[in-house]
Amino acid sequence: MVVVTAADTDAIQLWIIGAGPAGLALAAACVERGVRVGLLAPDPRASWHPNYAMWLDDAVSLGVEPYLGHRWIGARARFAAGSRDLDRGYGLLDDRRWQLELLAQVEGAGGSIVAGTLAAIEHDDNGVVLRCEGGERLRGQLVVDATGHGSRFVELEQGPRPAHQVAWGEQWVIEAGPGEPGLDLDRVNFMDWSSTGDAESDESLPPTFSYALPLARDRLFVEETVLAARLEHPPPSYFPALRERQRRRLELQGVRCVGEPVAVERCVIPMGAALPRGDQRTLAYGGAASMVHPATGYLLTNVLRRRARVADAIAAELERWVSPGGPSRRIWQAIWSPAEVRAWRLYGFGLEVICALDRPGVDRFFAAFFELPDHCWRGFVSGSAPTPELMVTMLRYFAGVPAPIRARLTAALFGREGLRLLRGLGGLQRS
Ligand SMILES: Cc1cc2nc3c(=O)[nH]c(=O)nc-3n(C[C@H](O)[C@H](O)[C@H](O)COP(=O)(O)OP(=O)(O)OC[C@H]3O[C@@H](n4cnc5c(N)ncnc54)[C@H](O)[C@@H]3O)c2cc1C
Repeated sequence: MVVVTAADTDAIQLWIIGAGPAGLALAAACVERGVRVGLLAPDPRASWHPNYAMWLDDAVSLGVEPYLGHRWIGARARFAAGSRDLDRGYGLLDDRRWQLELLAQVEGAGGSIVAGTLAAIEHDDNGVVLRCEGGERLRGQLVVDATGHGSRFVELEQGPRPAHQVAWGEQWVIEAGPGEPGLDLDRVNFMDWSSTGDAESDESLPPTFSYALPLARDRLFVEETVLAARLEHPPPSYFPALRERQRRRLELQGVRCVGEPVAVERCVIPMGAALPRGDQRTLAYGGAASMVHPATGYLLTNVLRRRARVADAIAAELERWVSPGGPSRRIWQAIWSPAEVRAWRLYGFGLEVICALDRPGVDRFFAAFFELPDHCWRGFVSGSAPTPELMVTMLRYFAGVPAPIRARLTAALFGREGLRLLRGLGGLQRS
């Protein structure tokens, strides 16, 4: 750990709060552009907990393909009507290797990595002062909040409470009988909506699917997932029922698990959280800036896709710095371009529909979705489709879906969700 003195931190231009993937990825991009960066987190080198996965083509185009720990040539989705092979590679990051590389890049370029917990942000005529829980005061010109979902430092637009993705994941050693080949290592099970039997009706769970990554012939990571729901109870209270359903699913599928799981992952992701206001001086990135894809729960692709552009904007504003205020408003446009805000509201519309569907409905919804031409569903799940393409995808989808889903979409379009969509066409809210 770099020990940072008050004198060192005096020279810092940009403070990034949080050392998760969003904070570290942005910090590395900013130091590369010559910005004097300070990174503040309680334990900046602590390993990240989640298993981060993404589509292989996204990993290649976004520059993290060398950090993949596992890769698969394709994926599979399973519905009541049958299964569908998705010819799109998938990858799981070796996130510790990527994290250590980012830390080395930040330090190597002179960035300061500081252990501490932010208590409050004060903006003044010169820039920003950070008050830490230990009593330290740190000065800079700009601050980016990358403290993850539910940040207390960023002001969000008014909006409905977010839905949640909740999942219970386990990694198992799998037993294969003599002569059995073990797990198929070619494809991940991206979504398996098949039923786990009558016991489901006794479980108070929203619709769930199974997401499974074969890590070796005898090693499986599997996650029983509520894609998105407005939950009646606190998200962690659903974990026991998810675990139960997952174990039953494995048994039904004849997967023989040995002993106890070797690792457990508890996943709670707010989905469709309100967007940040674009007129505040505190900037945000990653979960704190509501960058999670509202209909899938993925975040990393957005963090990686925008980081060069945001780092460019930060470096340019610091270069021509006169006073605080204006720079932040302009940098917000790089964090959330108006086109991305429009696309996001469309994804949010999809989220509302998913939340309202029952189990057969959600099964039919995704079965129809993956019947769309490849480029349509690919752009949608990656969050990379430009708004006009997204509109075309949604219209095509609309034309092809079963009548009950079309009725639900129409009701949403002419209801509250449609209004929010229209109001948001101009970008982030500002005064
Ligand atoms: C189990 C799980 C699996 C996921 N899998 C994927 C996936 O496969 N692909 C994907 O794209 N997304 C995935 N996500 C979603 C999303 O990527 C994560 O939520 C991601 O970790 C968010 O990144 P972040 O950097 O914004 O915030 P975080 O990773 O939450 O990092 C926040 C940082 O801020 C620090 N911090 C917090 N408060 C303070 C404070 N007051 N002062 C200083 N520092 C502070 C924390 O210590 C931490 O360093 C997953 C999420 C979960 C929970």
